[in-house]
Amino acid sequence: MRYQRPKGTADILPGESEQWQFVEETARMLFSDYRYQEIRTPMFESFDVFSRTSGETSDIVTKEMYDFYDKGDRHITLRPEGTAGVVRSFVENKLFGPDTPKPVKMFYMGPMFRYERPQSGRLREFHQIGVEAFGSESPQLDVEVISMAVDYLRHLGIDDLRIAINTLGDKETRSNYRQALIDYLEPHFEELSDDSKERLHKNPLRVLDSKAPEDQLIVDGAPSILDYLTDDAQNHFDKVTRMLDGLGIKYDVDHTMVRGLDYYNHTIFEIMANAKELGEGYTTICAGGRYDGLVEELGGPQMPGVGFGLGVERLLLLMNSKKFVFPNFNALDAYVVGIGEEASLEAFKVVQALRDNGFSADKDYLDRKPKAQFKSADKLNAKFTLTIGEKELENNTIHLKNMADGKEITVGIDDVKTRFAELLNEFDSDNL
Ligand code: ATP
Ligand code: MG
Repeated sequence: MRYQRPKGTADILPGESEQWQFVEETARMLFSDYRYQEIRTPMFESFDVFSRTSGETSDIVTKEMYDFYDKGDRHITLRPEGTAGVVRSFVENKLFGPDTPKPVKMFYMGPMFRYERPQSGRLREFHQIGVEAFGSESPQLDVEVISMAVDYLRHLGIDDLRIAINTLGDKETRSNYRQALIDYLEPHFEELSDDSKERLHKNPLRVLDSKAPEDQLIVDGAPSILDYLTDDAQNHFDKVTRMLDGLGIKYDVDHTMVRGLDYYNHTIFEIMANAKELGEGYTTICAGGRYDGLVEELGGPQMPGVGFGLGVERLLLLMNSKKFVFPNFNALDAYVVGIGEEASLEAFKVVQALRDNGFSADKDYLDRKPKAQFKSADKLNAKFTLTIGEKELENNTIHLKNMADGKEITVGIDDVKTRFAELLNEFDSDNL
């Protein structure tokens, strides 16, 4: 029997995991500059948390949920996205209360689960880094969230971005537009895809999101939501675009963009980038928007929110395709070679002493011959190789070699154990 990982999942192996740590760490540092704090919510939630928020007709709820009944007959879902769980937690822990300064700004990172057809940049278990900010209706907060995503991507070397924005307006906008859309789509009913037929009355905006080719032509001729904005909605959108202009962030307004989730209103956006690994043209790596009704929907007070979710797998595909140079966290400072059993024991002590002093250090554990040990030091890219042979043991010394320039020297073993940093400085300036 050969075991394989489940379809649509990936092992993140040593060598790759460092890249993950780097993008996660960069997010932590950058988001904290914007005063966003990390929140960690469960990887599974009640099914209702998502069906209530993503919308009964969304792809996520109708097709992609990993849901099951647990042994206590509870209907459970592995989270397909981050926002609903964060909002559930925000309400349950009463973070809307007076004790938390508004806006409450949070970020999360972790695995999400969707039953999809796996392909490059599309998995069944994938990872998102996302942010949510609650408690302000200001269009400035929409812009903060967008600029934070752009800032983050630029830090990671991705700057040929396409930003698409649209507005879904307020309730009145949506109900006016909904009717206009139904009036437009009804005469085309027979030409629509089955999915779109079903959605026409339940949620006509979703038809605009259809990827079915037969829907495309019809969608192209649909009325634009931008012609149905109330004064309030127009005003909000104008402020967003003006601020983006002011910050020099380029964007396109795409009035057919509606986003896959039902909970958005006012500003929605997608950030796209280009890499052949992700298919032809631009692929969305980050998407988000405002969701002013969501907190109420999950039993909290009326409290606005805005946020985004960004796909880490797609981000890393992009970075690697652009040959991003990741810092080498795992560079080994020292490899300690021991020649003979007693020297090997002493080498172990040196390795531990170096680690105690904050250096990364390693040695042989396979009783290998000196030649093989030196080879290991090379392979592991150790900055320094330290060697203890018979002579060194006798004299309480150790042989030190700088692998970069080949310089060698014999020093006291206690110096290495207690003051390696100083020793290296002296070594460097040829004072030894
Ligand atoms: P798509 O149209 O590609 O299916 P989506 O609208 O379903 O995307 P969102 O729910 O907005 O995606 O999620 C935000 C981001 O999460 C996406 O832009 C993408 O980077 C990432 N993402 C979504 N689904 C997957 C998946 N199955 N595998 C990998 N990344 C994903
Ligand atoms: Mg999707």
